[in-house]
Amino acid sequence: MMKALILVDLQREFLPEGGWELPGSESVVTLANRIQRRFRVVAATQDWHPRSHKIFAENHDKRQVGEVIDFKRQVFRLTRPHCIQKTVGAELAGALQMDNIHRVFRRGQDADVNGYSAFFDNDQRTSTGLVEFLRARKVTDVYLFGFSHDGCVVHSALDSQALGFKTFLVADAVRSTPLTTEEQAEEDRQLAAAGVTKVLSTSLL
Ligand SMILES: [Zn+2]
Repeated sequence: MMKALILVDLQREFLPEGGWELPGSESVVTLANRIQRRFRVVAATQDWHPRSHKIFAENHDKRQVGEVIDFKRQVFRLTRPHCIQKTVGAELAGALQMDNIHRVFRRGQDADVNGYSAFFDNDQRTSTGLVEFLRARKVTDVYLFGFSHDGCVVHSALDSQALGFKTFLVADAVRSTPLTTEEQAEEDRQLAAAGVTKVLSTSLL
């Protein structure tokens, strides 16, 4: 067995200093620093959008943040601008220890595509390189947590399991935009149906 840890989008944008604070985000960076020492293979992802990205409401005429639209046969839930390439908000958290992180994979770079996963940038066609990285290291078990402004931690967990890794979502170390009860139930149903296991961070410390 070879375990890997994937730290999803631990970027300044989602900390109190950033433009899109996710409540409780700072404590996840602290956890990431403690937990990553328990893994031999550690990767991180970095949301890395061009300013022209079509997920941003401001790049459409008369559209509001939160609106759901069809764009080039994809479902886009429009957001405020965030994690724009080469801006401070896109940087990884300053407090995040980097010495144990083997590689950082950037995602969300195609302005016309909703890349909601750490693994693919384009409807499961364009790899971010993460799956090749894990397979080259003979990884069998994948643990994930992080900042899920667009549901990306859950989408990444589903992709991970579908790609053949035994996948564990560290549930208390995920910070996301608030979900309705129905959305949370649907998310739990999808994870359970896929075979993703929810664990708590205490089990990794
Ligand atoms: Zn994004």
